[in-house]
Amino acid sequence: MALSLNHMIPVSVKNGYDINCEGKPLSEVLALVPPTHVALLPERIPYIKPRLLVKTGGRVKTGTPLVEDKRNPDIQFMSPGSGIIESIDFGPRRVIKKIVVKCDNEESRERFDSHSEQDIQNIPAKRLVRAIMKGGLWALMRQLPFRDIADPEHVPPAIFVRLENSEPFHPEPDMYLDGRADLFQYGMNVLHRLADRVFVYAGSHSHADSKTFQENVTHCVKGKYPADDPGVFLYHIKKGSDENQSWYINGQDVLLVAALLKNGTYPVERMVTVAGSMASRGLHLKTRMGVPVSHLVPGSSETDKSRYIAGGLLHGYAVDPDSYLGFYETSITVIPKGNEKEFFGFARPGINKPSYSKTFLSVFNNRPLIMDSNMHGEERACINCGTCTTVCPVEILPQFTIKAILADELEDALAHGVLDCVECGLCSYVCPSKIEICDILKTFRQNYYKETCESHTIII
Ligand code: SF4
Ligand code: SF4
Repeated sequence: MALSLNHMIPVSVKNGYDINCEGKPLSEVLALVPPTHVALLPERIPYIKPRLLVKTGGRVKTGTPLVEDKRNPDIQFMSPGSGIIESIDFGPRRVIKKIVVKCDNEESRERFDSHSEQDIQNIPAKRLVRAIMKGGLWALMRQLPFRDIADPEHVPPAIFVRLENSEPFHPEPDMYLDGRADLFQYGMNVLHRLADRVFVYAGSHSHADSKTFQENVTHCVKGKYPADDPGVFLYHIKKGSDENQSWYINGQDVLLVAALLKNGTYPVERMVTVAGSMASRGLHLKTRMGVPVSHLVPGSSETDKSRYIAGGLLHGYAVDPDSYLGFYETSITVIPKGNEKEFFGFARPGINKPSYSKTFLSVFNNRPLIMDSNMHGEERACINCGTCTTVCPVEILPQFTIKAILADELEDALAHGVLDCVECGLCSYVCPSKIEICDILKTFRQNYYKETCESHTIII
């Protein structure tokens, strides 16, 4: 049954682009057997300074703290399994890359306070915040515009709940909410205690026959990727700059917070998609946090011709098959590496070539196309074609913004709206000059965050 749209506020996003990539996951759920190892990847958690709390050979339960943020030790990241710490890998400058746990056959769990529905309504909001922090899930609450971890000392202007993600490919709400409407409602009750305004939004394609789900959705977002990004949503609904620091949380993560508070144990259940043209079969998989990539994609190896991307085709990052799923990630997309040279590629009609440009015959091909990770050319000078502007969902002028950044003109870059950028990657994807626009904007935003937010002098 389709969502009832009557009670929802429509939000239309004009710019964007749907990447028609082959390998969409089927609406079918496969439950995986438990993995033998799980891991936490602190280097993949942005905006924290991790301090290690465990040693190799130590014993942990599911929910035992593995690292804490040095700037706020109450923000902790827990073990996604019980067993022995088998290894701790460090990168350059002692960056903690991964903490691997060899799992016990019998899982043992740390205990936290559990809360009835009535407790949720009656205890002070601050105590709820403390309970989520103590249970290691506060980092699921992110704060715009930088998407760092929400400041637990503040009451946000609003909390957005993002149910779906149109970037190829992420779990669909119908799949992860199936049979869990009550838990989702419990989580929504928690969020309503943390902020006066809680907005739940979904795309117009969404289907969910849960009454609770339908009753909670406040906005229906229409538009192409990345219309359902929380930063894009904020950009299109905000009435003033005081809303710029709204918080957001993903729908699946609402279930985790709810399970933690309700059951008093660290929840590790995750719905993960494995999709893309090189995945033998795109599926929704019921598994757990920190699962090995090789467990999700059996038979994967570093020598094969596939690239494994954790966290979505444009937002995500490449992982090796011997790596693990990060704290935030719920998808692995498998595409061809595509590093073979294409002779006379410019002279080919390109009927199967994914491209925003209308110079290839693929413009007449509506079928999903095989994406690869090849740049198909090298970076050249900007030709002022304006293509990046036509796709930008927050209507900034990317080509002028990067010029201001490269010329070190901070005020100009801010005036162009660089803080509204949602790092969707579309401008880089469509740029005929192969300029890594999104990377330039992302680096600027990270440096700006370090210089302003960390020293509490931010101007947003
Ligand atoms: S500037 Fe580029 S990365 Fe940023 S929102 Fe616009 S299209 Fe996306
Ligand atoms: S798409 Fe690339 S070449 Fe065209 S204006 Fe933007 S940065 Fe310049």
